[in-house]
Amino acid sequence: MDQILGQVLRNAVWERLDTLASLADEADSGSLASVARTELPRLAQAWRAMLSAHEPDDRGDCPTCSTRWHRSKAPCSVWQAAHEHLIAGGLATTPEQRTSEEGRHTLRVPQVAGVGPG
Ligand SMILES: [Zn+2]
Repeated sequence: MDQILGQVLRNAVWERLDTLASLADEADSGSLASVARTELPRLAQAWRAMLSAHEPDDRGDCPTCSTRWHRSKAPCSVWQAAHEHLIAGGLATTPEQRTSEEGRHTLRVPQVAGVGPG
C-alpha cells in the first residue's frame, strides 16, 4: 500500500510539474504573470526545503545522501542538480539549445529571465 501511495504522490508531483511547464507555453501573458506570482515563490520554497535537507554537516558530508557505510561529500547530487538547473542551465539557457529542441519557444527565454522579484 505504501508503494501505491508513493506512486500516487510521485505522479501528482510529475503532473503538477507538467502543468506548470505547459503553462509557460500555452497561457496568455496575463495568466502567466498571475501563475508566476503564486508559483515562483512556491517553487523557490520547495527548492529551499529540499536543499536544506542536503546542507553539508560538520564533516562536509550530505547527511541525507550519506549512509552508515558511504559518506556522500557535499555538494551532493541534489545541490549539483540545483546549481545546474537554477544557475548554470536554468535562466541562462542559451537560445541555441532551445532552438535545436523546440524552436518555436526561443522567445520564451528572455520572458522567463525578465520575471523579477516582487
Ligand atoms: Zn544530499
